[in-house]
Amino acid sequence: MEPTQLAEELVDKVIKGEVKLHELDKITGNSNVATYIRRRVIERLTGTKLHNIGYYSIDFNEVVGHNCENTIGVVQVPLGVAGPLLINGRYARGMYYIPLATTEGALVASINRGCKIVTENGGVRTLVIRDYMSRAPLFKFRTLDEVEKFLEWVDQHYEDIKRAAEATSRYARLVGIEKYVVGNNVWLRFKFTTGDAMGMNMVTIAVSRAVEYILENFPNARLVAISGNLCVDKKPCALNLILGRGKTVIAEATISRRYLIERLNVNPEDVVDVVLRKNMLGSAQAASYGFNAHFANIIAAIFIATGQDVAQIVESSMGFTWAEITENGDLYFSVTLPSLEIGTVGGGTRLPTQTEALQILGVAGPGNPPGTNAIKFAEIVAGAVLAGELNLVIALARNELARAHERLGRGGGGDIKR
Ligand code: NAP
Repeated sequence: MEPTQLAEELVDKVIKGEVKLHELDKITGNSNVATYIRRRVIERLTGTKLHNIGYYSIDFNEVVGHNCENTIGVVQVPLGVAGPLLINGRYARGMYYIPLATTEGALVASINRGCKIVTENGGVRTLVIRDYMSRAPLFKFRTLDEVEKFLEWVDQHYEDIKRAAEATSRYARLVGIEKYVVGNNVWLRFKFTTGDAMGMNMVTIAVSRAVEYILENFPNARLVAISGNLCVDKKPCALNLILGRGKTVIAEATISRRYLIERLNVNPEDVVDVVLRKNMLGSAQAASYGFNAHFANIIAAIFIATGQDVAQIVESSMGFTWAEITENGDLYFSVTLPSLEIGTVGGGTRLPTQTEALQILGVAGPGNPPGTNAIKFAEIVAGAVLAGELNLVIALARNELARAHERLGRGGGGDIKR
């Protein structure tokens, strides 16, 4: 029988309910074939033609079991590039072109102009000041007496817990356990360095082993959930803003007064005024965790391009923009991202287009020594965020935002003044 006839027979069987969509990978032994059959099923059931969703270079045998289930094809997102951006960090040093996947017109052009401003003023300086991934299992106890004994027991058995957790990975290293108590509930917020991985899988596996050790050796502890929501993963929260999660990274640049006035027709004082009244006061009034203009725009575009977990844009795009006038009358501008959750190995970074995007930045795969590629990547992301943020704040100070969007977002294709 012809392979296409076999495939059509399987399409019929799925539609009749004799075979389930998720069984096709096993039945065919080939996830590319299974992907094709599922797509045909959806086309028939919904009366659609999925020509573009079915047009790709991915090998689904490499995807199913790692990155996605019930695959039917791909969604394409346009990829632009901004730069070059001069970065003077600890690991990121030199000129970088930033890959940005987005459908928002004017975004890449805006970041590109920010890169130009920063680079022509000596570049951006970056520093990663904190680096860990956390998972916080929640335990419940009958009485406060048990709670008190448990807290002491955890301190006394820290080294044993650490040994149990670290046995699960060559890279996960426990650097601390924070304890939180409400009533008879105890959260242990485990913190690990995770090499070049963002680390969420790695840390969850390590913490489950640690929890096994705890439950075996402190029988009065009862596990409520391996994640007690104090981790905090994929939810907006003050905890990560204050204590950090992933990389806490800062980028700064100095833009000369003369450059701002002569090239951009804006005073540094007007830029500072926008930062203070909009980013600080406006965000305080809104009780926002984002004391910035648009970190999420740059973070989202880089996350999509490089295969990061896009749900973590929630906490990765929290943070602060700061600006002031230097002693020389120039503009000092900085961005602080307390909870940037990124990696250069694992997750979606292994997909072919995402790997290529990481290669553009020179950070694909493991670093030598481990962890340095992910730190370098964090420095580049912070540099790009600064460029995007600076350009938007300048645009606001010049009141040119709506005009740029009209030109570039509404199909005008015009040129943002560079
Ligand atoms: P991962 O792919 O699960 O783990 C990284 C793997 O790479 C490990 O096997 C590690 O070795 C290996 N590795 C090789 N070289 C490395 C190096 N230089 N540094 C670090 N690891 C290296 O990736 P992950 O970052 O832990 O997890 C990311 C995935 O978790 C994403 O797909 C994300 O969507 C998902 N996620 C999971 C949860 C959850 O609760 N499970 C929550 C949110 C997101 P070892 O085997 O020795 O560790």
